[in-house]
Amino acid sequence: MTAATRVLVLNSGSSSVKYQLIDMADGSRPASGMVERIGEQSFPDHATALAAIADELAGKGVGLDSPALAAIGHRVVHGGTRFTAPTLITDQVLDTVRELVPLAPLHNPANITGIEIARKLRPDLPQVAVFDTAFHATIPEYAARYAIDSETADRFSVRRYGFHGTSHQYVSRRTAELLGKSPESVNVIVFHLGNGASAAAVAGGVCVDTSMGLTPLEGLVMGTRSGDLDPAVLLHLHRVGGMSADEIDDLLNRRSGMLGLCGDNDMREVTRRVQAGDERAQLAFDIYVHRLRKYLGGYTAVLGRVDAVVFTAGVGENSAEVRAAATAGLDAFGIDLDPALNALRSKAPRLVSSPLSRVAVAVVPTDEELEIARQTFSVISSGDR
Ligand code: ADP
Repeated sequence: MTAATRVLVLNSGSSSVKYQLIDMADGSRPASGMVERIGEQSFPDHATALAAIADELAGKGVGLDSPALAAIGHRVVHGGTRFTAPTLITDQVLDTVRELVPLAPLHNPANITGIEIARKLRPDLPQVAVFDTAFHATIPEYAARYAIDSETADRFSVRRYGFHGTSHQYVSRRTAELLGKSPESVNVIVFHLGNGASAAAVAGGVCVDTSMGLTPLEGLVMGTRSGDLDPAVLLHLHRVGGMSADEIDDLLNRRSGMLGLCGDNDMREVTRRVQAGDERAQLAFDIYVHRLRKYLGGYTAVLGRVDAVVFTAGVGENSAEVRAAATAGLDAFGIDLDPALNALRSKAPRLVSSPLSRVAVAVVPTDEELEIARQTFSVISSGDR
């Protein structure tokens, strides 16, 4: 009999479903892909999209009925305070994820739909939810609570949850490996810089603070999101600007960040314009970097001792300019970037600091799918499921 060692990872978004089939026995990926533009003609809904993925897998000889398939791992954005670890999906679990929809109205519904359809396709197969928030569940109360009236905060579940947790977890552990140390023995600051961007302070493998909050809007400057701002800005825009809640939501989530500052949300284009002497792009770049440096300094104080600052995701892995600017002139922090190493392009986890740097600076490509597969496999392999 074939050992069931494969995990199908599904990331169901509102208009796309990404999938990867990962074999935990040898790390191979027999299939991966994405169905986009769900809601349009060829894929009117998630059911047709997942049926297409099932057909594609079957066509490659690795269909959903394959005996090698051990489980399906689903990315779920918001686990609230209820889910702090990867969880085997039952009817009850799914009901609780539904109750969390008000906390992530843009994300959880699509995640839930993906789970429902996958369970219909393979009702007998273990399916596991891996939450984007779970890694941040260890953040101490004094870092998770906003300084507002506690009763109001609790009534509306307002607190810092944090996101990109699967990535921060994977990257912080992989960084420890790169340093040749155990995760328990290192303190790391992770900058996950993609379209969305967040920072995390990880002490001995445990997350102690992160920049995203109740929603993925807080913290760093992002492609189209503002990150931190005076909360009274919203009131001002409402009272003086006459903007509605939906208009402000749209402004801060979709028309702000690098796009709002300079008209481009892709860091490649911003960097090209900076090099061509474009002042608006330069200011946007400077604002982006200034925010990174504030979090770098803040999390250094939070951690006390930092072993590594690590960059990941689209911008973090590829933009030598951002890494250089974020760490420039920080010798007092023990940070000494090596310009030649930083400029090298590579897909491998690597150090970009000089051997003299007390704090290592690293680039570690993230792999959220592998982390979801790993966590899914560990849930189904543990006895207590
Ligand atoms: P997501 O957050 O959607 O998963 P990614 O992590 O793939 O996205 O990051 C996408 C972003 O990475 C792009 O918007 C772009 O700004 C940036 N990026 C990709 N390649 C480069 C590059 N070579 N230089 C600078 N930025 C890059």
